[in-house]
Amino acid sequence: MSLNSKIPAGAMNEKWTDYKGHVKLVNPANKRKLEVIVVGTGLAGASAAAALGELGYKVKAFCFQDSPRRAHSIAAQGGINAAKNYQNDGDSVFRLFYDTVKGGDYRAREANVHRLAEVSNNIIDQCVAQGVPLPENMEVY
Ligand SMILES: Cc1cc2nc3c(=O)[nH]c(=O)nc-3n(C[C@H](O)[C@H](O)[C@H](O)COP(=O)(O)OP(=O)(O)OC[C@H]3O[C@@H](n4cnc5c(N)ncnc54)[C@H](O)[C@@H]3O)c2cc1C
Repeated sequence: MSLNSKIPAGAMNEKWTDYKGHVKLVNPANKRKLEVIVVGTGLAGASAAAALGELGYKVKAFCFQDSPRRAHSIAAQGGINAAKNYQNDGDSVFRLFYDTVKGGDYRAREANVHRLAEVSNNIIDQCVAQGVPLPENMEVY
């Protein structure tokens, strides 16, 4: 039996954008009635939990370490990649997508990696806005 990762249908570069464009909205008055369970308190889980909490949802975040701050995310300090397209850099969403799939030994879910590449600049802006302590020597490539 294969795991259903519930990745939306459609072309690779449109799956998540298309899904986001059609997903049902939650009436602001109903947000407090919904409890969202987030599994994981690394950058992905913690930022999702904080963002959803700020939007008005009730959120519970779970992790399996002694402390939520023991996630792998706390260990990263070499740099972070985004499709910044500095002048003459030749960077693009596709290039970041391809490099990331290759760097993950072709084992990642490609549609999700593509989404990561699409929103990579926003992710870094969100990290900064949410107060993620990026070390001074952290490079954004
Ligand atoms: C030493 C090290 C250095 C790194 N350096 C860099 C770097 O310089 N640049 C870079 O871009 N990347 C780096 N990485 C990779 C990067 O840290 C990770 O890709 C990223 O942090 C993953 O974030 P995440 O939120 O998806 O997962 P994580 O931060 O790994 O968080 C996963 C969370 O899920 C929880 N969890 C897992 N299973 C369960 C379960 N069954 N029940 C409940 N909770 C569960 C864990 O408790 C944890 O809170 C590094 C990784 C390591 C280990």
